[in-house]
Amino acid sequence: MEVITRIDTMREKLISSRQVGQKIGLVPTMGFLHDGHLSLIRKAAQENDIVVVSVFVNPTQFGPQEDYEEYPRNVERDALLAEEAGATFIFHPSVEEMYPENYETYVEVTDLTKVLCGRSRPGHFRGVTTVVTKLFNIIQPDRAYFGQKDAQQTIVIQKMVRDLNQNVKICVCPIVREKDGIAMSSRNTYLTNEERMQAAVLHKSLEMAQKMIDEGERDAKTITKAIEKQICTMEKAYIDYVALVSLHNLQPLTVLSGDILIALAVKFGATRLIDNVIITV
Ligand code: AMP
Repeated sequence: MEVITRIDTMREKLISSRQVGQKIGLVPTMGFLHDGHLSLIRKAAQENDIVVVSVFVNPTQFGPQEDYEEYPRNVERDALLAEEAGATFIFHPSVEEMYPENYETYVEVTDLTKVLCGRSRPGHFRGVTTVVTKLFNIIQPDRAYFGQKDAQQTIVIQKMVRDLNQNVKICVCPIVREKDGIAMSSRNTYLTNEERMQAAVLHKSLEMAQKMIDEGERDAKTITKAIEKQICTMEKAYIDYVALVSLHNLQPLTVLSGDILIALAVKFGATRLIDNVIITV
């Protein structure tokens, strides 16, 4: 497996594979790989001949007060893990390579990004859709793999691909969790032991919501309140949002029906965690 840092080299490496009809899978990541990322890489390796894993902490998706500088990085470790999971290349460009001086072009999905994480992180999805479009242009993958963990991101990217006629199939993979249910995330490394233990409440509250719905509850407010109440039993938890929305347009629901996304964003200390579940009623 090779680690490639230049866009030109990355393109050249893929020309001959494409010419002989090999399928290319792309797994975009910000690195510091964990089992969640590796599940995407393994899936990509099953379904494609070539797997490119991008490792790029994308500055344009971080707000000015966010954790761009602190974000954990270790590309040597990432390379070993990615190779084991079946990656062919790691694409690891510098910020200057991706955003040279005088860079001024952005891709924006306008409405789906106004809610949930888009509301608390203005500009975040614009950074995501811009870098993902650049990666699609550089790699020209047949398939690209994203985690359900970032539910709004998958919906925004699918919309971008449809709206801009981008020639790539988006594959969404299930959330990989730790034993206590917490969704794996590179940001979990920021948590103190106490915060880490308390953060397990997120998955528990989603399970409780699932149970309420299974038992026939259809009132969104009742479920939202129950989730909030459970999360607030943890003294380190500070809720950003608890939302029950339609999976298709991310608009809030009052009475549950169809495909529902229950999405949470909660801060534990300085660390903002997200989690979600999709339920069809
Ligand atoms: P990130 O490096 O956090 O930008 O994540 C890169 C990709 O991995 C995104 O598509 C995420 O949704 C996905 N991902 C992150 N954590 C998980 C997880 N716990 N389970 C499944 N996919 C994940």
